[in-house]
Amino acid sequence: MASPGSEYKISRTCNNCGHHEEIWVSKREAAFELVDIDQRLGPACTKCSATLFSTSYWTVPELDLELLTMWAQDSSLSLMEQDEDLMLADE
Ligand SMILES: [Zn+2]
Repeated sequence: MASPGSEYKISRTCNNCGHHEEIWVSKREAAFELVDIDQRLGPACTKCSATLFSTSYWTVPELDLELLTMWAQDSSLSLMEQDEDLMLADE
């Protein structure tokens, strides 16, 4: 079982050798896309040093009151793209 606070998974698969790596991130990191798996694990495959990957992102958390509160309190956080588009359309 994943530890509480890091329950969302990102994985990448090396396009060259098929080596699979994954990391766990928190709900906050998943919702606001704060983690770049290539930065976490390094830009190259740990097995063959290739740099092309297929990246599978986390299941994006449901936007709930907890996330909206985080977002409201921290202007550096951005929500998913469709919401940003909505905001731009309002201008
Ligand atoms: Zn590889």
